[in-house]
Amino acid sequence: MLKKIVNILQKFLINNNNDNSETFESFLSNFSNLKLYQSQIDMLSFLLSSSSQKKAIQASTGSGKTLAYLLYSLYKLSIGSVDHVIISTYSKTLQEQILNSLKSFFNEEATVLKGTSNYICLDKFEENKENFNYTNFIPPHIREKVKVSTDYCRPDYLPLCNFREECEYINLISTLDQKKIIIINHYLLSIVKKFSNKKVILIIDEAHTLNKITKKIIFTNEDFLPLEEPNPKNFDSLRKYNLALEKYYSQLKKFKLASRLGITQPGSYDISLENTINFDDIFEVLFVSATLPDDLPEEIDSLYLSDQRSWEGINIVVKDVNYKYDNYYDVFAETIQKAKSQYDKVIVLCTNHNQLDFIVKNFPECLVPGELSPFEVISKLLQGETSLVAGMNTFWTGIDVPGKKAIIMSKLPFPAPNNSSDQEFLTGYAHMFKTFKQGIGRMLRSSACCGELTILDNRVVKFPEILNYLQELEMKGASLYIETEKNFQKKPQLRVIK
Ligand code: SF4
Repeated sequence: MLKKIVNILQKFLINNNNDNSETFESFLSNFSNLKLYQSQIDMLSFLLSSSSQKKAIQASTGSGKTLAYLLYSLYKLSIGSVDHVIISTYSKTLQEQILNSLKSFFNEEATVLKGTSNYICLDKFEENKENFNYTNFIPPHIREKVKVSTDYCRPDYLPLCNFREECEYINLISTLDQKKIIIINHYLLSIVKKFSNKKVILIIDEAHTLNKITKKIIFTNEDFLPLEEPNPKNFDSLRKYNLALEKYYSQLKKFKLASRLGITQPGSYDISLENTINFDDIFEVLFVSATLPDDLPEEIDSLYLSDQRSWEGINIVVKDVNYKYDNYYDVFAETIQKAKSQYDKVIVLCTNHNQLDFIVKNFPECLVPGELSPFEVISKLLQGETSLVAGMNTFWTGIDVPGKKAIIMSKLPFPAPNNSSDQEFLTGYAHMFKTFKQGIGRMLRSSACCGELTILDNRVVKFPEILNYLQELEMKGASLYIETEKNFQKKPQLRVIK
């Protein structure tokens, strides 16, 4: 494999008068067991030959984008042409997955930085500890009270905190510029400014989610009232005073936000986060996605790869049922039961909590995210500690389970409608189709993948785009079965079994 890659890459390395061919060859020789898809070789060829400061790769889910950009960026680190690699992705689960890939292929150290609310403020914990009796697991309502917040841990309070030496969050932040590889999520992109005088490769994974970055903010009646700064004389301890200041600064921010956005009523609002970094200021930026967005920066060098992988050994079954049918949950349970009897790994992709509740009630052995993160649930499946898992959003877009398995899609993943306008249907349809393809992509994670994908939604045959997509997979080797189309007038040109 190494020889093949080197032969392919050598040509352009020589053509570009690049004297790095030997160093890249010796870098690759450290990973002689690595097996790469042709798509990954294509991505590496593109990355190494492009001299553009901004690059973009579009390649299908499961084509090995993560491994390709990790190989490229580790090579750049190894020859000293960059100081840091920062990888940004959409969710915490995807952060964990990237870390996992890094460790399994390269045994490299990386730092995962999450949002402040994922860390415990020991100072707040100390203040509240009489009320708590928790050792390992802290329930969400308690966690909310003791999470790190920048309104509490302000630069003027930090030197006064007795826990700053042992504080995980502060230790992480203060040593960040010493880390070579940092994995963040898009909400934390502004952290890249800390590295303004360093050569950084910033990799924006799941680039299509960049414009989806919103924050849910709940405004209460209290947030619209005039604010009064706390007076230290009214508090018998510094901590109590600081807790009052935290609340004051948090409300002040919301008050200013409400007036800037014209919000006058209490309620829950999805606020778009503005992109706070300028990609032109970064040494090198790479955007990666299965579906690159249209609004990428200008002067970008892009590679669009089509999916050439074989789908042999994978059955795709569309059941004659949908969520509106009376027998929907009977078919749902039967499908799970049958998959359990045939596969050691069964993954159910759900679209709402009713479906999850049904599975948990009828299959108590099923693991679902809750106390465990989606990543931890999938780890238990991979380690054989469970054979059945179910989940919603991240399960459709971000889990990675190679090998033989059954995947069940509870229905087409249309978002919940807010109204019934044509515009909303089109937006919802586009969202559904993208998520559907990402869900399908969970099936082919490595060349050893095989098994069965069952779609519990006969509306599939109503949408030519979806049918075409499934037919493309059939042409690539998948076996496609549509149980019946009797409920629809338009008959698809597909093999049908009764
Ligand atoms: S350093 Fe800041 S975040 Fe850490 S324990 Fe102290 S106040 Fe909390």
